[in-house]
Amino acid sequence: MSRYWSSIVAGLTPYVPGEQPKLPKLIKLNTNESPYGPSPRVLAALRAEVGDTLRLYPDPGCAGLRESIAAFHKLTPAQVFVGNGSDEVLAHTFLALLKHEQAVLFPDVSYSFYPVYCGLYGIAYKQVQLTESFEVRVDDYLVPNGGIIFPNPNAPTGIPLALAEIERLLRANTGSVVVVDEAYVDYGAESAAGLIARYPQLLVVHTLSKSRSLAGLRVGYALGDAGLIEALRRVKDSFNSYPLDRFALAGAAAAMEDRAYYERSCAKVIATRARLGDELVSLGFEVLPSAANFVFARHPRHAGAELAASLRERGVLVRHFGNPPRIAQFLRITVGTDAQCKALIAALKAILA
Ligand SMILES: *Cc1c(COP(=O)(O)O)cnc(C)c1O
Repeated sequence: MSRYWSSIVAGLTPYVPGEQPKLPKLIKLNTNESPYGPSPRVLAALRAEVGDTLRLYPDPGCAGLRESIAAFHKLTPAQVFVGNGSDEVLAHTFLALLKHEQAVLFPDVSYSFYPVYCGLYGIAYKQVQLTESFEVRVDDYLVPNGGIIFPNPNAPTGIPLALAEIERLLRANTGSVVVVDEAYVDYGAESAAGLIARYPQLLVVHTLSKSRSLAGLRVGYALGDAGLIEALRRVKDSFNSYPLDRFALAGAAAAMEDRAYYERSCAKVIATRARLGDELVSLGFEVLPSAANFVFARHPRHAGAELAASLRERGVLVRHFGNPPRIAQFLRITVGTDAQCKALIAALKAILA
């Protein structure tokens, strides 16, 4: 605390990202990055950007990238907003579309950045309990609200919500914006992007950090009715005209255009996830049904924090959340390569022995 701080800064509780270790040897299964590199076409596009044009500002409207994203989702560029990672897209969404008199609703077990944005922007929020089996129950959200946001599949549980349930929510909730954060949708859940034409209050948020293997490039986007997109653009152009640099614009467009590469890498992760789940179950873990690139698992006889610490000693990083208390027993384990998952299982066997 410093006497020079604003009262806003003094009251902030910032998000704590997962560890990015300095030691290169660690097996990193803690922040849901892809274990596979980006498409070779992305790397070629990035190399092509190295040159004299770097003296010029990038396109503030990100037209080329928005066109590639629109083509992928069969939408128009006016229905696409891009940002510096979906975290930035989400931040603008909270300020532009979720800050109202009534509280915004999100699950009590969910992406822990949501309450941080509420704190930053002074937004009232209410956390809605997941069911006993850690599922989102749509009926619990059919109450007066200033907006609704949840990841699908949810994080850190990995459990998906059926598209029919999302549509039921949209039919009932027309007075406020419904944001579906689809950071992990490519690993087995149904996207709500196809509902955008019919529901002007729906915003779907995607990231290139997971299924497109580009966490290091920082690109995310939102899909929605042009009116919602315009609200995001107004916030962005009141904050930073150029959040995406020339590399991000070129690399992200190439990633969106190489559909086959990303489909193959998602399929590999999905296949490994099934094997990893089976191995964890045979070690006595309970594994929640995951449609994401991670699994959420607990052992009936071992505390989550202790398991995570023992794994770290053996060179394997996983994520553990202490709050809320009912998930404290769980580990969130990113699905790595088959070799990485094998090393994780070997380490767990040694710890549990
Ligand atoms: C990873 C993640 C994001 C953020 O992704 P970036 O694009 O890297 O900022 C957003 N929402 C959820 C639920 C995530 O897990």
